[in-house]
Amino acid sequence: MGLSKEIVAKKYFKNRCYVCHKKYGKYFLFHHLWYIENDVIYKHYKNTMTYNEALMPLVIKNKKRFLLLCRAHHKYVEWASSIKNDMMWKRFNKARTMTKT
Ligand SMILES: [Zn+2]
Repeated sequence: MGLSKEIVAKKYFKNRCYVCHKKYGKYFLFHHLWYIENDVIYKHYKNTMTYNEALMPLVIKNKKRFLLLCRAHHKYVEWASSIKNDMMWKRFNKARTMTKT
């Protein structure tokens, strides 16, 4: 039994979502900022538990490669990867700020 996700979150990631600072809880995860060779990738694991067990040593080994995110902000970060350049960001932000609801 290695280090648990909860302990790693508390010890190295201020126990909160990088974006909204919500306190660590259900559905939080470590988001890869970049991948390395032979990385631990979710789809290669049978379930969340075995995935996290395999991932924690890598998180500790290079903390700069990960962000702790709540479920919502992980989704946002993933969606944002569909915005490919500065012009698109500019238009996206304009769409966002023009929205009054
Ligand atoms: Zn968040």
